[in-house]
Amino acid sequence: MNNADLLRSLGVDPSTLDAAPPWPWRSAGAERLDGRHACVRCGKPARVAGVVDTPGHGRRWLDRCIPCLIATTPGDGSSAPLKDTLAVLREAAWEAGVDLTAVVVGEA
Ligand SMILES: [Zn+2]
Repeated sequence: MNNADLLRSLGVDPSTLDAAPPWPWRSAGAERLDGRHACVRCGKPARVAGVVDTPGHGRRWLDRCIPCLIATTPGDGSSAPLKDTLAVLREAAWEAGVDLTAVVVGEA
């Protein structure tokens, strides 16, 4: 799924999204997680700040809460190992300055 497909699946017009800075944007993304930006899908405070780049609109912030991020992340039949996913989440939480507690169910 490309960025245009993702935005279509979310029902989001990219022209309504805030312009994002050029790479590297991670510190700007962490600063964006201040509770003032709403999830594009449900309106709750965003916990993940991503960037989409679509033709005609350039780089735009795509703010989502964790449940909506999970619900809208396409599965392609393969998945990263759980430890890799948790490492990404821990890094994002560290950058955002928030505590993260991961509860994993069903792992041996
Ligand atoms: Zn949401």
